[in-house]
Amino acid sequence: MISNEQLVEKAFEAMKNAYAPYSNYHVGACVLCNDGETFKGANIENASYGATNCGERSAIFAAYSNGYRKNDIKAISIVTDGKRLGTPCGICRQVLSELLNHDTPIILSNGTETRVTNVSQLLPDSFGVDDLD
Ligand SMILES: [Zn+2]
Repeated sequence: MISNEQLVEKAFEAMKNAYAPYSNYHVGACVLCNDGETFKGANIENASYGATNCGERSAIFAAYSNGYRKNDIKAISIVTDGKRLGTPCGICRQVLSELLNHDTPIILSNGTETRVTNVSQLLPDSFGVDDLD
């Protein structure tokens, strides 16, 4: 099984594929599944800004697109080339709250600083499927 450091390294590899001509803010992410499979993602921007997809959503959508679900996911790493440690945006927090178990490690890094968090910490008291009858 790969270490947190290796999972962060894979996210930095993914970050090289970011398409960010507008923000010039590059994000990479990598989902690690319990069977050892990994799925990379990067942010993909669009001239119609609302059509942009963030790196962590690209990675988790890739995992789900290949049949994996929240109970199959061991961790996700999310990295940026920003000066500050990047954390998921509001839309991504909502998506991660549905597609990850709330205690699944989310490893954040910008190469100089690394922090491990989870959905419970990033989006407490979240709205979700349990609120729909
Ligand atoms: Zn986002």
